Amino acid sequence: MSQIWWVNQKVKIDGRVANEVVWSPTGEKESWHWATMWEVEPGDIIVHYTDQHIVAVSEANNGAVPSANPFADELQDEWTEEGKRIDVSLRWLEAPIAKTDIALDARKEAAKNRGPFQRDGIRVKQGYFFPVSQLLWDALKEAAGLGELESAADDTQLAPEIDGATDVERLALVRREQYQLRKYLLQRGELRCGICGREMPARYLHAAHIKTRSEATERQRKDIENIVMWACTLGCDQAFECGDISITPDGTIALSSLDRIFLEQTFGHLEGQMAPAFNAGNAHYFAARSNNFLI
Ligand SMILES: [Zn+2]
Repeated sequence: MSQIWWVNQKVKIDGRVANEVVWSPTGEKESWHWATMWEVEPGDIIVHYTDQHIVAVSEANNGAVPSANPFADELQDEWTEEGKRIDVSLRWLEAPIAKTDIALDARKEAAKNRGPFQRDGIRVKQGYFFPVSQLLWDALKEAAGLGELESAADDTQLAPEIDGATDVERLALVRREQYQLRKYLLQRGELRCGICGREMPARYLHAAHIKTRSEATERQRKDIENIVMWACTLGCDQAFECGDISITPDGTIALSSLDRIFLEQTFGHLEGQMAPAFNAGNAHYFAARSNNFLI
């Protein structure tokens, strides 16, 4: 059974927190919240916290091994050269989890047993590396909106990388937005591609952003009802994603002029048809997507 850990990371390299390596000093002045790193075993899960948010979840590739400070060039602080490192396989969360989204009870409890929070549950301890209790881990999953992780295990979108229950949870955290979007679309009931209109099993359907996710505002991203649709993995999702298929302002399907022969062979029967996903509520998202590809 994997242990869960919490690391406070502030070091920024290229504008991002340098998360692929977890490192802390050793020696006489080794603080208890640095020494905790020695307890890590390969496969343990680490949540990465910075700027009031959990921003990534990783898996430890190895236990701690002696290592000089890999950040020595970037840092000019009091940390010594001698230390230990753990290399991790890191996944950024699609949607970071705010500290304040975690249940206060769990945060307060996490002051005990070397946990990451102070007794008020409001502040995170000044320190580096802390064990995460089952209660805090459960609260984290709850904060991420992952109440029913059993169904995540059945989710073939996640399946190829899954190795054990904790890994299911780790990947579900990483992809919680996709998970929540799927959950919404599944609840809506209709298992049908929003572009080609074919009905099919959920495992062939992807929850696709109509307006490109990276260009959507936070408010638009939360407009789940309108900004997502099912797009089938049999071609529509990819074709829509890269602009080979677009939806015109009147809701009909248009094909790009690139690779015209291939596109006609593959999607020609859809050209000029109404896209089933199109409606008055999401027309502006389709328009925003099309604008990406206008030259
Ligand atoms: Zn389709």
